[in-house]
Amino acid sequence: MRVPPTTEFSLLGEHEFKKEQFFIKLKVFSIAFSFVFLFWGFSFFLSALNQQLAIDRLVLVRPLEVYTYNLSEYPALTPHETSQAIHIGIQSFEDHFAIRFNEWNVKEGVVPEELKSEYYSWKGDAQSEWPMLGLKVWKDNFYPMFSQKWNKNPGQALRVLMTNHPLYASNAAHDIETRHLGADKLISGLGHPGFVLISSYRAFQPSSRVEGAERVRFIGEYVLAHELGHAVLGLKDYVVDAHSKAGRAPASAAIQRQCLMHTDANGGMEAWQALKKRTLSQNVDCYEYERLISAFKLRTMAVLMLKTGSRVEAKRLHEQAIAQAASFAEPWLVAQWKEEHRLFLSVIRRWMTL
Ligand SMILES: [Zn+2]
Repeated sequence: MRVPPTTEFSLLGEHEFKKEQFFIKLKVFSIAFSFVFLFWGFSFFLSALNQQLAIDRLVLVRPLEVYTYNLSEYPALTPHETSQAIHIGIQSFEDHFAIRFNEWNVKEGVVPEELKSEYYSWKGDAQSEWPMLGLKVWKDNFYPMFSQKWNKNPGQALRVLMTNHPLYASNAAHDIETRHLGADKLISGLGHPGFVLISSYRAFQPSSRVEGAERVRFIGEYVLAHELGHAVLGLKDYVVDAHSKAGRAPASAAIQRQCLMHTDANGGMEAWQALKKRTLSQNVDCYEYERLISAFKLRTMAVLMLKTGSRVEAKRLHEQAIAQAASFAEPWLVAQWKEEHRLFLSVIRRWMTL
């Protein structure tokens, strides 16, 4: 059949039009695809960069930032004694847990920024009303706030406030271990990854039976190093009846064996009697925390390997560290290591789970 030239012409025109449409679509598609591809590429690059920066920021041991601030109402260590107590605390921590603080500084006569309004507005005559003397305000207001800040940057300096006001365990519900407190319910310190509070008040009370030169050692080792054990290693308090034959034998023996986190249910003084006899700078005669200390060593090796590029082996060690710490450490430490573990994943895997 003959097709009139006009029809043929219009069919040809239609064909050209479709072809043009096709190329336009192809062009739009390839531009869109290039954009998506570029976006993916860019987000992958950013993810890799972020991961590297976060790896560079990983610290083996957090630096310490110690604040000292005393209220005139209460007895206090002299600045020299406070400095000695800090040195003893850092040395004892190393003796007990084989972990050394390489970086630390002391800020004398000041409190951390967040506590300034409370401490600097203190009036001696209203001391019994002052909320900072009770555990409640620390647990309800300050610890959640410090905790939030720490969560955002777990490698930040661990802040410690050494002060001299009393700190009482209130009757209000709380989850800290209080069986080792004396009848006066005085607390010597609180150890938390977000913040550490050390009060020398209890060491000045006759009930503590701590006198003279012993006081510096008591605050440095029995209180400061102990609270750092909570704040850095996530160790729990082990309260045992030193005279009980029914209790777990190693725990009872641990009190006599200079175990810093073990204490007795009678004011904790039995544990102190054993601790004060040991020589500073020497390893302690205690093996109760070995599993957690070795988890820390594994984590240290894992971080060092990750920094030097041996990611696969580092990941394996880090997994081991987490598994080992899980049975001994406070849940916050395990949660933080699990979060940190994302840095041990390959860039692609981490990018895909963002
Ligand atoms: Zn404790």
